[in-house]
Amino acid sequence: MRTKSFFFFLLLLTALQVTAQRTLIHCGKLIDTKDGKVVSNVTIIVQGNLIADVVNGFTTPAANDKVIDLKNKTVMPGLMDMHVHLESETKRGAAADRFTMNPPDLAFQSTVYARVTLMAGFTTVRDLGGSGVNLSLRNSINRGIVVGPRIFSAGKSIATTGGHADPTNGYSKALMGDPGPAEGVINGPEEAYHAVRQRYKDGSDVIKITATGGVLSQAKDGSSPQFTVEEVKAIVTAAKDYGFIVAAHAHGAEGIKRAIKGGVTSIEHGTYLDDEGIALAKEHGTWLVPTITAGKSTADSAKIPGYYTDVVTPKALAVGPHIQNTFAKAYKAGVKIAFGTDAGVFAHGKNWMEFVYMTEAGMPAMEAIQSATKNGAMLMNMWDKLGSIEKGKIADIIAVDGDPLTDINVMGKVVFVMKEGKVFKKDGVQVL
Ligand SMILES: [Zn+2]
Repeated sequence: MRTKSFFFFLLLLTALQVTAQRTLIHCGKLIDTKDGKVVSNVTIIVQGNLIADVVNGFTTPAANDKVIDLKNKTVMPGLMDMHVHLESETKRGAAADRFTMNPPDLAFQSTVYARVTLMAGFTTVRDLGGSGVNLSLRNSINRGIVVGPRIFSAGKSIATTGGHADPTNGYSKALMGDPGPAEGVINGPEEAYHAVRQRYKDGSDVIKITATGGVLSQAKDGSSPQFTVEEVKAIVTAAKDYGFIVAAHAHGAEGIKRAIKGGVTSIEHGTYLDDEGIALAKEHGTWLVPTITAGKSTADSAKIPGYYTDVVTPKALAVGPHIQNTFAKAYKAGVKIAFGTDAGVFAHGKNWMEFVYMTEAGMPAMEAIQSATKNGAMLMNMWDKLGSIEKGKIADIIAVDGDPLTDINVMGKVVFVMKEGKVFKKDGVQVL
């Protein structure tokens, strides 16, 4: 009897395989991000959540096949933004939100920002710091109950006392308390271990540290070092035990160098990166995630009276405008670049502006697109699954109207979005 039902089970499985629906995507132009070239008239065959094959010409569909016609579009892998904050979005007087908003408020708004991000063609993001709601958001997207990109979340960033991402900066003494490693505030290597292990327990995917001061924290300094090399080393060593990579927010030259020497995977912003820092980054293979859009938009917002607090405004005006030039210098020198915007510091869904600023600073459009696909995947150690349209990879596929290699602005006109084989946007309209 058991053998009989087993045979029925096998028959059923075979029947399912025969009838499994294939989706044929007919692409007029396809950006091959692996080799940095454009191929014409190809068909991507999607089965389940994977790319089953990529073949020349427009394959004729079999009886059960679905066809998606992108013959007059440019098709490319889903975009990857290595630096976003999905819990919040910039607005006048946002500093007060920390006193007025509860986790459910953050949760509801984060679902809106996640959807906007996916509709802009970003199928994968790293959320580099929030309250922990960003972990729940990731889980809800993975469960399929919220529409959004695949998220690699840092949970809460790790800072030092009074440093960028100390959650009590700017509070009155009555409210301040003394946050420790569990809350993401460390002093010394021992506490660094505790903080990383707490992130592991919380369910983080990546570790984020704030190696220098930052622009939007309620503290005076925006760029001086806030971690010792020993503290960075302890973070990185502990992170390795759990398979984490480490992203370091860093503006000032000294903090950047300490983070690189300490072994972090990526420098976020890198505003005052100097020649010595460039040489160190190349020697250590450290990635730079530029966030030019954040620099420009915070400098612009700071010109509006009362937009930021008095302690933040001068930092935004001083730090913001430097990032694009630093990016240009680092790119020319051969530092590895992965696309990242710091979206949330500006409006979600405008992540594509980074492409405009990168090309403006001298990076060819093809390389800018590769930085947001191939390089992001490599930084995340996900190149075997993401970052290009190849047989066996996850079916994250988008299309734009027009040719981004001749007009980079079309990266803002994403008309088709598929994530893990599911279509979320078609003909410019959300469908799921
Ligand atoms: Zn950030």
